[in-house]
Amino acid sequence: MRLDPPTLFMMTAAVTFTVGVLFLLSWSQARRERALVVWGIAHIVGSGASLLLSMRGQIPDSLSIGIANALMIGAYGLIWSGVRAFERRPPRLDWALAGAVIWLAACAVPAFYESLPARVILASLSAGLYCGVGAVTIWQGRAESLVSRYPALVLLATYAALYGLRVPLAVTTPLPASVGTASPWFAILCFTGTLFSVAIAFTFMALTKERAEREQRLAAETDALTGIANRRALVAGAEQRLAVAPAALLLFDLDHFKMINDRHGHSVGDAALAAFCHIAAPMLPPGALFGRMGGEEFACLLPRYDERAAARIGERIRAGVARFTHPDYPDLAMSVSVGVAVESQIGGSLDYLLRRADDALYRAKRSGRDRVVTSQDYPLPLADEPAGTALHAAAGRRRMRPS
Ligand code: GH3
Ligand code: MG
Ligand code: MG
Repeated sequence: MRLDPPTLFMMTAAVTFTVGVLFLLSWSQARRERALVVWGIAHIVGSGASLLLSMRGQIPDSLSIGIANALMIGAYGLIWSGVRAFERRPPRLDWALAGAVIWLAACAVPAFYESLPARVILASLSAGLYCGVGAVTIWQGRAESLVSRYPALVLLATYAALYGLRVPLAVTTPLPASVGTASPWFAILCFTGTLFSVAIAFTFMALTKERAEREQRLAAETDALTGIANRRALVAGAEQRLAVAPAALLLFDLDHFKMINDRHGHSVGDAALAAFCHIAAPMLPPGALFGRMGGEEFACLLPRYDERAAARIGERIRAGVARFTHPDYPDLAMSVSVGVAVESQIGGSLDYLLRRADDALYRAKRSGRDRVVTSQDYPLPLADEPAGTALHAAAGRRRMRPS
């Protein structure tokens, strides 16, 4: 099979341009993802580089060598810049375009411009470096767990390695100076260029799609006010954990919360709910599942905890909430009642566990609030702090079950 290199270059340019336009179209649907626009421009710039390369011999060398490679290096710089934008880091366009500027400056030096190995080395080093740091940037963002991160990383690292390999090859096996578009090297360059465009486009699109899905999923599982798990996520997570391990459940209900709303307003009530989570979350052990059941009721599943150890954690949180003060609202006091129950069997029912914790919570309310009560009624207090006295006046109200 005989492949005509200029035709291949034209094809590379057309494919890369199309991919660039598709990136821009995707960006118009999801403008928050600025990386898409940077990647789109990178591909369009890259297609310009392929177009100029395809015209080698028909246009001045300053265009088909000087400008074409500057565009190619700039395109890789923009790919890296897009990766930074994707990772929510400043895109650093100055650094992204520095490679192209250095290339153009070097081309102004006749000794460099006339040396094919020197040109191959600088172009390969620049493109390889951008791919390499792009791979590192993707790796650094791995805390956001996205499966597509790994193909993108492998792709960029492979390209960095291939460009890196071209550097010693340029010295050990230099191409003949008269090499033209008829050389098989050009066909190889075309193929790899097209493959890179298409493969990188697929992986980057997959990355952005996966991120959008992850964010939607997290939003559907998160309580908007407090940022912790909502009831649906809490119930699903608790059922999963109960299927494989025994666990204890803490059920929290802020005391006389209606009074806080009535006295200080609903927005202060909202802030108080968030404050409760700020106090409680850091006191929970790793593996704890904490969420908002609804209103001013929260729950925490503690896998492999017995009732007494769980009650101790509940007591620490109760005491922390009782100590809460806010300089702008000196008369704002908070307290929480906690019910504790345990499921000692694997595969236990969450409903039954919730019912027993709820009964314990009801008893905590009835016996004066601001306290921890376990379903087996361990003797209290469990810690040094005496049960708080704030907001105890109207004891004995029947509390609502979580619905
Ligand atoms: P108890 O000690 O018996 O639990 O008394 P309570 O006042 O806390 O209980 P009640 O169930 O009577 O009232 C709960 C209040 O919580 C009523 C409701 O307005 C308030 N509330 C529920 N969700 C929110 C919310 O998202 N923000 C604010 N600010 N208040 C809320
Ligand atoms: Mg309440
Ligand atoms: Mg309540």
